Amino acid sequence: MLPPSLESAITHLTKLPTIGRRSAERLAFYLMRSPKQQVEELAAALVRMRENLRRCSRCHNITEEDPCPICRDDRRDTKVICVVEEALDAIAIESAGHFRGRYHILGGCLSPLKGVTASDLNFDSLHKRIESESVEELILAMNPSVDGEATAVYMSQRFRPRGVRITRIALGLPMGGTLEHADGQTLHRALEGRRDVE
Ligand SMILES: [Zn+2]
Repeated sequence: MLPPSLESAITHLTKLPTIGRRSAERLAFYLMRSPKQQVEELAAALVRMRENLRRCSRCHNITEEDPCPICRDDRRDTKVICVVEEALDAIAIESAGHFRGRYHILGGCLSPLKGVTASDLNFDSLHKRIESESVEELILAMNPSVDGEATAVYMSQRFRPRGVRITRIALGLPMGGTLEHADGQTLHRALEGRRDVE
């Protein structure tokens, strides 16, 4: 039987995504052997992150200041919004370094199977932005999946009547692939090759 403090650390680590019992044990043993200061810094960094990060009230991206630096940057093109499912997708596109518009994080995509409906996602705030920021184009950058498709169709039907051009990135990924794991070149090509949604 493991000492209670070690067992407790392992139990908490197994709550993290992709970490099973064996990985949690390995991490806990690694941390146990690390210098105490390093472990304290890790714990403090996690708490600081949790305390300081919030959602941008405009685009829903994660940020320490509201509005986020991207929404505040007036050198960026306000007429183009890239719509993504999660903040990690925006981070991936931003890291690719070519996109100069702004983002809107939906918070997922429509999924009848998972019970996610339009009211669960950030569509209403996007609607407001389209009107208040004179948006001319929405680039839909959902992941290639059945739910991503359904979300793209919904957005096209809802926002095109508002006079906005709706385009979809040409990701060239198989169904089930994710933006988050695509490299910078692939994301750049995907944005360049975007097409109007029918
Ligand atoms: Zn923002």
